[in-house]
Formats: sequence, structure tokens, C-alpha cells
Amino acid sequence: MTQGKPSRSSDAPAQPAAGAELLPEVFRQMAEHAPIAISITDLKANILYANRAFSTTTGYALAEVIGKNESMLSNGTTPRLVYQALWSRLAQKKPWSGVLVNRRKDASLYLAELTVAPVFDEHGETLYYLGMHRDTSDLHELEQRVSNQRLMIEAVVGAAPAAMVVLDRDNRVVLSNPSFARLARELTEGGSGDSLVALVRENLALPFAALEGEGRAFSGKEIPLDLGGHAPRWLSCHGMAIHVEDERAQVFFAPGAERYLLLTLNDISELRQKQQDSRLNALKALMAEEELLDGMRETFNGAIHRLQGPVNLISAALRMLERRLGEQAGNDPVLSAMREASIAGQEALDSLSGAMPVRRAEAKMPVNVNQLIREVISLCTDELLAQGIVVDWQPALRLPWVMGAESRLRSVIKQLVMNAIEAVAHSQVSRRELFISTRVENQQVVRLEIVDSGPGIPAELALKVFEPFFSTKPPHAAGHGMGLAMVQEIVSEHAGTVHIDTSYRDGCRVVVELPFSAAG
Ligand code: FAD
Repeated sequence: MTQGKPSRSSDAPAQPAAGAELLPEVFRQMAEHAPIAISITDLKANILYANRAFSTTTGYALAEVIGKNESMLSNGTTPRLVYQALWSRLAQKKPWSGVLVNRRKDASLYLAELTVAPVFDEHGETLYYLGMHRDTSDLHELEQRVSNQRLMIEAVVGAAPAAMVVLDRDNRVVLSNPSFARLARELTEGGSGDSLVALVRENLALPFAALEGEGRAFSGKEIPLDLGGHAPRWLSCHGMAIHVEDERAQVFFAPGAERYLLLTLNDISELRQKQQDSRLNALKALMAEEELLDGMRETFNGAIHRLQGPVNLISAALRMLERRLGEQAGNDPVLSAMREASIAGQEALDSLSGAMPVRRAEAKMPVNVNQLIREVISLCTDELLAQGIVVDWQPALRLPWVMGAESRLRSVIKQLVMNAIEAVAHSQVSRRELFISTRVENQQVVRLEIVDSGPGIPAELALKVFEPFFSTKPPHAAGHGMGLAMVQEIVSEHAGTVHIDTSYRDGCRVVVELPFSAAG
């Protein structure tokens, strides 16, 4: 069996060679089977030809439309202007495209996306008009639904009290609502959305990294923001990743998802403020109790201090007399009286020490120094107002935690603030100011400065003022000179330092430095 070249069957239609002109029948067949409604009209729009899709789209059989005018499809709701535009373009021998409302044979309406164009003879004169239209009702309905949904979502998001922002892969703001813009204006210097996002990222470094990296959502993460003179603010933050389909044509056959982040920020300042207020009231009661205890301890210490001198003196005199009398010491009545006095004195000292009220031990925990300062300022409001002292409070926006005994550290700040108020109150200065600031120093310590516009402390007394029972006040004035000694003691307990800045000349500047915990 031989295998020859495959020969074309003799009844198969001849294939036109490339470049050869196609038969008019080809074009007729093309128009006939095109999936779009095609019609050819005379110059008055009377239909001369219509294809199958025209019949399917309009519901009319072809025999019913041939010879009829295209206006048979008009239902009277398309504005006149649209038809005028159509005809005016045709009159200029130009095509026109637009959307009309057409009526089918069964009286139902549909949207017709229509293109009309003139068909010319060899001299460029218009012979016919060509019309092509398709039913775009479904597409329009879909577009309208999407647009309506967008409008509704925008209205809801726009009116939402929560601040919302959508970030792209580079953390750029791609969408935000008015509440977010308002919050950005209130909380950041430049008022930009990017700055607010940076602030949130800075405060929520770990959850934000997990959200960016693994798309792990977070919820209810709180950020306390201390804004100096203004009331402190609290934000409750939620973050989640959203994956949306890529819309670009180039990825039509290889769809991929784009990752965005949605951040929702709720301003819970009012709620927290209320909680703070009730906490402050509880604190007031606690501090009053502690102050009473401190006062008693101070009185006891003062009494011990005063008694210790004479008792020491009697003991020294006793030893001297014992040495002098030698063997006869046993029978000497003065000596035995002195012995009794010494013993009685020592017993009195012991019972005073034993009766001294004990401070209860306080566990160390992470303490926010800014918060303590704010509490102390609130607790001292009455005194500050009474003395007409203006407080300038400049907190570090982000302060690490200090591991410490919270109420002990609060006592330190209260003591320093009360000292400052007293200094300003008793001086003749016209400026009555108290400046308090915090900042991080050398990435190791939280530095707190309390500066008053009072008379200041002379350089030669800058160390002495921390000694127990030392006071610059007149002897009859209140206070036993224990305040700064107590400050020194507590700060040392926290491995910190406190000193008077002797270079400061416009009043008194007390500097407290407390090491902060690495976890902060
Ligand atoms: P008019 O627009 O005033 O029409 C009155 C009559 O005058 C109609 O017969 C109209 O065809 C004719 N006419 C109006 N202006 C001119 C002019 N400048 N020159 C010549 N004749 C004119 N309309 C639809 O509603 N739906 C369609 O799908 C549609 N398809 C069309 C396809 C083609 C190819 C053409 C040329 C027109 C088409 N039209 C269509 C327009 C249609 O001819 C009418 O203009 C329109 O329907 C409004 O008709 P009317 O009776 O309300 O008023």
C-alpha cells in the first residue's frame, strides 16, 4: 500500500487564496450571524435590512420590521436631545454612539447601546445608514447596583464615628473616612493621614508587624496618647487584612489577589477619662491615708531624732563617770540615777521605734510616669488654682515603663510638685509657673524635670536639702525637712537619681532619672 499526498475532495468548496477579495456573500453571512443587532436603513431610517440578532433583541420577526422606521423601537422616554445629536452627526456624515431606551414587541423596555454610521457610495455620498445595537440592560443594572452599593457603603463609612483607613502594601493611605481625617488633624502635627498611621504603627509595633507579615488580625489594642496641655487621648485599634482581586487586564487569566490593610480606630478617651476620674478619687483617699501615715512616721522620726541626742549624751557622761569613779562606781547614787535615766531613755527610743507605723510593702510593676504626673497634677489642682500657678506639662509622647512601686513613685512626684507650689507661693516673684516634662535620656532612663519659678535653692544647699530634718524654712513653719529625704530614699530604691540642677538660675529645677525596663 502506497501513501500519497492527501487529495482534496472534488466537491469541497474552493478556499480563497490569501489577499483575494472575499465574496459579498461572506459579508452577508457575517452580518446575518453577528451576535449584535444590525440594521441598514434608508436616509429616513426606514429599515431595509435587519439581521437575526435584531429580531432576537427586539422581539419582532424580520418581516415585521422591514420597511418600518427605526422609530418603531422608540418608547418616548429617550430625550429629544439624544435623537437630535444622532441625526446631527449623521448629517455631518459622521458616526454616533449612545444609549437609548428601546421598546420590544412585547412592550418591555431595554437599554440599547447604539452605534449609527453613514454608508457612502464611491463619490462619498451617503447611501444608507448602518445601525448596530445591543441590549446593555443587565450590564447597566449591575453597574448601577455596584454604584449604589458603593454610595451606601460610603455613606455608612462616612457617617461612622470610628476612624477607618485602608492601606496599600506600602502602608500608603488609599481610602479613609472623615472621622479618620479629623483624628489625624487632632493627633498629629501635620494633620496628615500618613502621620496618624505612623503613630499607630509606632505604638503597636508587634501586632502591626504580625498583621503585615502573616495577615494576623488584631482587635481592641489600646494606645494611650498624652498630648501635653490637652486632655490625654486613648485609641482602641483594630486591624485586619483584606484581599481583593486584581482588576488589571494583564492578570485576567492569572488572577491574583492584592493585599490591603483595614485599620479601625475608636476614640475611647471619654470612657477612659471617666475611669480615670473614678481612679483619681480612689487615689485621693489612698494618698490622704498615706500622707497621714507619712506624717506620723515623720513625727515619730522627729521625736526619735530629738530624744537620741540627750540619750547619747547621758550614755557618754555615764561612761566617763564610770571610768572616773572606778571601783566606787557601784555605790554612787548619781551614777545609778544616770544609769536608770540612760536605760529609760533607750527604752523610750525602742518603744518609739517599735510603735512607728509601718508602710505596707508594695510590689513593683510597670509604671507609666506620664500617668503618675497627670494624676498628681489633677490631685494638686486646688492648690495650683489657689496660688494662681500656671502648669506647663510637656510629656514625652511615648515613654517606656519604669518598673517600680507605683504609689511610692507617685509620692515622689507629689512631694516635688507640692514643694514647687510652696516655693512659688511664698516668693514675691510675678511669674508663677510650674513646668513639668518627661523624656527618654540615653535610651536608658526616664528623665523627669520639675521646674518652678520660685526663689530656687542656693548651690551650696543643693545636696544638704536631701538630708533628713534639713529645712530652709523657718523653724516655726510646717514640715520637718523630711520631704526631699523621702524623695531621695524612694528614688534610690528604684536605682534612680535625683538632684537639684544648680546651673538653673530662674527658679528651681529638680531632675529625677529612673532607669526603665527593657520590655517597655
Ligand atoms: P423623530 O426623531 O422626530 O423622527 C421622526 C421621523 O423623522 C422618524 O422617521 C425619523 O427616523 C426621521 N428623522 C428625524 N430626524 C431626521 C433627519 N435629520 N433626517 C432624516 N430623517 C429624520 N431610534 C430608537 O428609538 N431606537 C433605535 O434603535 C434606533 N435606531 C436607529 C438606527 C438608525 C440606523 C437610524 C438612522 C436611526 C435610529 N433611531 C432609533 C432613530 C429614529 O430614527 C428616530 O429618530 C427616533 O426613534 C425618534 O423618533 P421619533 O418618531 O420619536 O421622532
